[in-house]
Amino acid sequence: MRDPRPGLIWSTGRLARRAAYCDYMSSPRWFALREQWGRHWMARPGIEPCCLICGAPWLLERHDLHHRTYARLGHENCRDLIPLCRSCHRELHRVLESDRSWRRLDRAQATDLIVRALRRRTIRGWSVSHKTFGETEESCR
Ligand SMILES: [Zn+2]
Ligand SMILES: [Zn+2]
Repeated sequence: MRDPRPGLIWSTGRLARRAAYCDYMSSPRWFALREQWGRHWMARPGIEPCCLICGAPWLLERHDLHHRTYARLGHENCRDLIPLCRSCHRELHRVLESDRSWRRLDRAQATDLIVRALRRRTIRGWSVSHKTFGETEESCR
């Protein structure tokens, strides 16, 4: 979620939503959900969690989960979240927020397209875990 731009007036509804979101992001509930997400991912044989863009190993304590959608905020399922390292996460948000056309798309759709585009740019060789991402996504219910 974005910070309000300087000089931009946000509606009270929007500010309230943002405050609720910030509370949630620093809540034990979100932390527990991250842990659960990590365990779920580890349980899949042969698939180490890694940043979906650059392929760096993903660590629960150090790295981020990006919301492909906020539709189930507080009750996310594993497909709502993707593992990203800090810098790729920042880059994804930079792209997502730099162009109005992304906002016309569904957030999940925009996320997937940007991840794919950034991925092509960042690395050439793909590790097994990246190749199987499509399948893991499907088998992740
Ligand atoms: Zn990365
Ligand atoms: Zn994010």
